[in-house]
Amino acid sequence: MTFHDVQLLSADADELKTVLADAGFPAFRAAQLFNWVHAKGILNADRMTNLPEPLRQALKESRVLEPVRVGEILTSTDGTRKIEILLRDGRTVETVLIPDGEKLTQCISSQVGCSVGCEFCRSGKFGYVRNLTADEIIGQVLMARDAYYPGEQLTNVVFMGIGEPLHNYDNVVRVWRILCDAAGLNLSSRKVTISTAGIISGIEKLGRDLNGKAALAISLHAADEATRQRLVTGMKASLADIIAALRRYPLPKRRRFTIEYVLVKDVNDSDDDARKLVRLLNPIPVKVNLLPLNPHDLSAMAPPSDERVEAFQQILVSKGISVFMRKRRGDDINAACGQLLGQKDEK
Ligand code: SAH
Ligand code: SF4
Repeated sequence: MTFHDVQLLSADADELKTVLADAGFPAFRAAQLFNWVHAKGILNADRMTNLPEPLRQALKESRVLEPVRVGEILTSTDGTRKIEILLRDGRTVETVLIPDGEKLTQCISSQVGCSVGCEFCRSGKFGYVRNLTADEIIGQVLMARDAYYPGEQLTNVVFMGIGEPLHNYDNVVRVWRILCDAAGLNLSSRKVTISTAGIISGIEKLGRDLNGKAALAISLHAADEATRQRLVTGMKASLADIIAALRRYPLPKRRRFTIEYVLVKDVNDSDDDARKLVRLLNPIPVKVNLLPLNPHDLSAMAPPSDERVEAFQQILVSKGISVFMRKRRGDDINAACGQLLGQKDEK
């Protein structure tokens, strides 16, 4: 009795019943197994004390509970931890734990590389390699527990690591559902955010499949088409198309979209850009995350001065837009937004 090529960590309790039955185990074990993995966060079969020995053996022999392993863990002076995730094919991705008061946010990767190739982003600089499997994605969340500090508990997950989540739609949505499953980790749907550079078909499908419940962040970065093309080079959708898609999205009451805007010196940071952004966002409920560009070795672009950032922010605020300045976290270990690469940094 064993499991062959099963994606066990990303299966829901019903699917687990079938998986177990196919391997010759009774269906009622599914809820127990799901509870160990997702509610208790235990991946060591030896500790799953209410499972019979043959099932524990089968889990161990088939290695279904370890689709990924933890590699190097780098800790920033601000408590941010960047965790190297080793995949079975020898590739690596990265995931980041970001503590903030009572909150612990994990930023997870959805692909090896990224085909969008935004001008300022380190993750896309070597192109697209492959999608992560659903088990590899949720494996990042389950395995990162090794790097928690005592008493820490995960409260938020953001798909803002390496890759464009909506280019790996099915696996990302599968993981989103498992993270929010009441019998598992039970994260609130508004605390698991999918961030996209603007894939229209994916946004539409998300609206249909999850009734708009997934928290959605849109990486816009520009308020006119020419600037958008310059920064988000690999994306066909126009800003007008994206705004239209957001207007059609079944956003639940009292929710807002998050608009991410990386501020780049002399490219999209003028007062005029800010005013254009206000007009562009006028028809939709938003909060804006301003991210002064995190500089890195693979881009010549630079962040604006603090005064420029402040002036940009003020224009948005004066027009009634909620603005959050993304704190730079972990940039001493290349763990800040856009600095993840998925291969060891040569230092
Ligand atoms: N591909 C998705 C999710 C991963 S990127 C997306 O683009 O939304 C997560 C966020 O980090 C995006 O908003 C992205 O624009 C931002 N980012 C990328 N490079 C950055 C950099 N050098 N400095 C600051 N933010 C950056
Ligand atoms: Fe890909 Fe997002 Fe980086 Fe753009 S910002 S290259 S979409 S990971």
